Amino acid sequence: MTIQRTLSIIKPDATRRNLTGKINARFEENGLRIIAQKRIHMSLKQAEGFYAVHSERAFFSDLCEFMCSGPVVVQVLEGDNAVATNRTIMGATNPANADEGTIRKDFGESIEANSVHGSDSTENAATEIGFFFSQTELVG
Ligand code: ADP
Ligand code: MG
Repeated sequence: MTIQRTLSIIKPDATRRNLTGKINARFEENGLRIIAQKRIHMSLKQAEGFYAVHSERAFFSDLCEFMCSGPVVVQVLEGDNAVATNRTIMGATNPANADEGTIRKDFGESIEANSVHGSDSTENAATEIGFFFSQTELVG
């Protein structure tokens, strides 16, 4: 057992369709515990800061606009191998390529509006969790 924490975001396409509960059930059914959660409406500055690693990508400005187009739910998931476990539950970036039964396959609308974000490494998870949460907000 390697207990880890990872940052998850339920994206605006999913909050718009009222899918927060259905998506949270996927995490819980797969052994991840939501140890922090808040619904926020990101500013463009926040989105640009969060996705700074992608600032050179062609889709960067569209992505930041999309992430500000409605409320998101930012959350910290904890469990065995949480980073990789969550990536498996989420499915591939492009819903068209995602495995059956994954969040992105079942709920994603497009490669951009793909319903969820999940950290891709423990290092990035720590940075991303710190971007949205203080230590006292994490209740394991
Ligand atoms: P992931 O979210 O699977 O880790 P990336 O980190 O590569 O994927 O990309 C971050 C986000 O940028 C994706 O979740 C998606 O919303 C968006 N994105 C990625 N690739 C594209 C693309 N080719 N066109 C539009 N949006 C994209
Ligand atoms: Mg990524």
